Amino acid sequence: MKVALRDDDTSYFTDPARLDAVYHDVWNRVPVCLAVVPHAMGFADKAIPEKYWQSHRAYPLEENPALVAHLKALTASGKVTIAQHGFTHEDFADGHEFQAAPDLESRLARGQAYLEHLMGTKVRVFVPPHNALSKRGLRAISASGLNLLGSFLSFRPSMRPWEPQTLGNWWRVRAYRASTQRARGDRMIYPHVLRYRHHAEFGCHTLIPGTTLDELVRGFEEARRAGGHFCLATHYWEVDAELKDILIRFLDHAAGTPGVQFVAAERLFDAH
Ligand SMILES: [Zn+2]
Repeated sequence: MKVALRDDDTSYFTDPARLDAVYHDVWNRVPVCLAVVPHAMGFADKAIPEKYWQSHRAYPLEENPALVAHLKALTASGKVTIAQHGFTHEDFADGHEFQAAPDLESRLARGQAYLEHLMGTKVRVFVPPHNALSKRGLRAISASGLNLLGSFLSFRPSMRPWEPQTLGNWWRVRAYRASTQRARGDRMIYPHVLRYRHHAEFGCHTLIPGTTLDELVRGFEEARRAGGHFCLATHYWEVDAELKDILIRFLDHAAGTPGVQFVAAERLFDAH
């Protein structure tokens, strides 16, 4: 069973000391997949320092050279891997970036090329801002070939571009829902990789204020019984002492379970 950790929202606005404070005793145990915003927009948002709330311009990651140097060192030592998290992470009048931006294909291609060039590493995984994707957003990701790590993605064929695999995957998810005695609207994280024509998808469990250790352990045990895998997603900027304690205790639980292997999130998509 593979267990991975994803952290969203590293961007120009990130103080490298904050990442260290949260993960200094974590990334030696499990590599942290940092979902990085290539050109983060300054606007009113909890993840952005208040002095940038009125700036309304995009900040390329390279304008924070201390962060870039730190990320390169962390990547080289295997403590983190780099995924792409949107392009600007901005909101539009009618939705989040990968629901509503007009130029999704170019945002994907420019963001991936930018991160790969700047960090000197491959980017194989995309995380949509707010885990929100339109049908058009899914089509763009499929065309890009990037694998998708989400949290509450829709599998309904009407919400997705049609691919030969769409119907079969929908049935797999339905059968799993039925096997776990869930009703239609009940929360569910499907614990297996779903493969599509050019990309694959996997859903993460979230660690946010209010999440309990018990919930995470239950989700983990369910995935384990199903022969699946587990990915936990959080945001460094809201990890306080309480969430950190839950994270450590969850990792202890996973580490004590026979057959568990901590991996970089990219490895979730490997054939074996
Ligand atoms: Zn985000």
